[in-house]
Amino acid sequence: MPRPAELADRLADLDARYRRRRRPRVDSPQGPHIVVDGRTYLTFASNDYLGLASDARLIDALADGARRFGAGSGSSHLLTGHLAAHDRFERHFADFVGREAALLFSSGYQANTGVVGALVGRGDTVFSDRLAHASLIDGCRLSGAEHVRFRHNDLDGLESRLAAHPGGARLIAVDAVYSMDGDLAPLADLLALAERYDAWLYVDDAHGFGVLGDGGRGSLAAAGLDSPNLVQLATFGKAAGLAGAAVAGTATVIDWLVNSARTAIFTTACPPSLAHALTVMLDVVGQADERRADLEARIVQLREGAAARGLALLPSRTAIQPFPCGDDAAALAAAARLRERGIWVPAIRPPTVPVGSARLRVSLSAAHSAADVEALLDGLS
Ligand code: PMP
Repeated sequence: MPRPAELADRLADLDARYRRRRRPRVDSPQGPHIVVDGRTYLTFASNDYLGLASDARLIDALADGARRFGAGSGSSHLLTGHLAAHDRFERHFADFVGREAALLFSSGYQANTGVVGALVGRGDTVFSDRLAHASLIDGCRLSGAEHVRFRHNDLDGLESRLAAHPGGARLIAVDAVYSMDGDLAPLADLLALAERYDAWLYVDDAHGFGVLGDGGRGSLAAAGLDSPNLVQLATFGKAAGLAGAAVAGTATVIDWLVNSARTAIFTTACPPSLAHALTVMLDVVGQADERRADLEARIVQLREGAAARGLALLPSRTAIQPFPCGDDAAALAAAARLRERGIWVPAIRPPTVPVGSARLRVSLSAAHSAADVEALLDGLS
């Protein structure tokens, strides 16, 4: 790592290698159009898959929650910060996804960095898919368990690694929908392996919750899976339009996490207004079949339109539709040219994706119109 006097040079070096990141300041609420530097862009950058991030019902619920439960929760859950609003949400969420119990976290990042280390530690082994989200990788590293990675979605590779690590507790960590590729994990096969090897299966469903499964109950409900070995995560900053995350599983697992997940214990409980709005969100998401159908129509339109124009997208059937560019400079140039046309699509570069696989990450939403997707296809062409 650079010393203090070296930092500026290191940033310049990142710039020269097309790796320096900057945060565009957005001067509008989220929606299919955003305002940056005074210009309005059609955006395909957010994970607001159902178009709920500016939904009036959720905005009202946040305000109502603050009036009823106060602005802050005042302390951590184990002291007196676990208010009725948090408790009610956890019960409703567990029912919604069909598991016994649930635990609310302030973010998905916090959940992933806390849950893995609560289930495995020194002397144990954690097996993660090579494309698992950075927060899951950090959770694996922080756990202190031996960290073994397997090739993306490679069940045979995973099985041989499980067989080679017989001692201690074992946990398999995967995303249900891969955030930069949009493809799906073979969840039923993974769960069968986890059960056969007496391991935990921890599934991060950040990009499936709200979108996949009956009523948006997520990837595990879509696959009809339940097991004492299965611990699942949903995050609420994407399709759910809010923020926060929850882990669901058996009542015993959740009780264990209450006692041992450090990122749930040593942190102030999220504002009760958020917990209250999350409970309202479950109803909104549960009734959002029309939005899910709209999203599906946009996905089909983009893929068929791209094929008709000879544009090669990665093979994804979800709202995440990556357009491979190869090197970092090409991805940045493509994103810049789209911005000139008033279209915002992020260029995703290493270390977020492997070297040589920079891409434009198109993220579709039910709030996009058919004309929006046509404009994107024209721009991509
Ligand atoms: N897991 C995955 C797969 C994600 O894409 C993200 C967000 N980028 C997270 C976890 C982290 O969730 P949160 O934004 O709630 O911290």
